[in-house]
Amino acid sequence: MPPQYEPCRTILEELDARGWATGMVVSCSASHATPASFIAHQDLRAFTEAIAEDYLHTSFDCFVGGGRGYFEDRPDKKNLLDSMRLRGYNIQSGTGFNRLPMDGSAPFMLFTAEREPESASSGRRYLPNATTKVCEYLQKRSPKGFFLLVEGSQIDWALHANDGDWLKTEMLDFDATVSAALRFAETNGETLVIVTGDHECGGLGLNRTSSTRNFDPAFSARLHSAAMVPVFAFGPQAGLFPVSTKTPISISKCGTPSAKPPEVRNGATTRRDIPNAQNTPDFFQKRLF
Ligand SMILES: [Zn+2]
Repeated sequence: MPPQYEPCRTILEELDARGWATGMVVSCSASHATPASFIAHQDLRAFTEAIAEDYLHTSFDCFVGGGRGYFEDRPDKKNLLDSMRLRGYNIQSGTGFNRLPMDGSAPFMLFTAEREPESASSGRRYLPNATTKVCEYLQKRSPKGFFLLVEGSQIDWALHANDGDWLKTEMLDFDATVSAALRFAETNGETLVIVTGDHECGGLGLNRTSSTRNFDPAFSARLHSAAMVPVFAFGPQAGLFPVSTKTPISISKCGTPSAKPPEVRNGATTRRDIPNAQNTPDFFQKRLF
């Protein structure tokens, strides 16, 4: 929603209209903020039942994540999943893909939880595998290409809670997920992978006791911060983004093995590399460098 509260088309809807296959894989519910912002048009994120209803109005190809209850256990007694089935969607629960039309013959929703999925530290494991499976599935759904949103949703929640152990397991899970996407893109050769965050949270820093073997985070906030977030890109047209690599980056052993260090193109590593650096206000110069 823009400030004037006039619904605007999301990137998922735009690409769907162009004939691309579209999907979302998240570790939150379908009604939570990020997936909602790709498919719903409501004034407030708190309107979770109305957001679920918006799934009836967009022809996405697949969704993997929590929130089945928002579709069939509702105050208004509507069963939105019956409506989705009438539209041809295969609806399943769990984290397995065996009963789903992975040959690309039908759209589907796979619910991993009634409301919010459990944390990675409590045993949630589906995000990396689901990313691979859904990439392969979406590839079969349209010859024009596909758009897939994947979110490591609970990284933000761990930061709100200032919970270092929760954060660590969510980051490792997301790293494995990025690796899955990079592996697909590297093999496929036609896929652009963009990794970023919609904001920082928690004012995350590291205590002096931290090392490569000891993650000892420090937090300065329990809310979203104004810290800049990086944008990483890999694949065709990656050079359009601030930092792009020809080699997949991994931040842990979960990642794609890469013998040589990533080759950074267009990397803003020195002041000289920033376009119009001479014109950059003092405020940014001090903080960027
Ligand atoms: Zn948040």
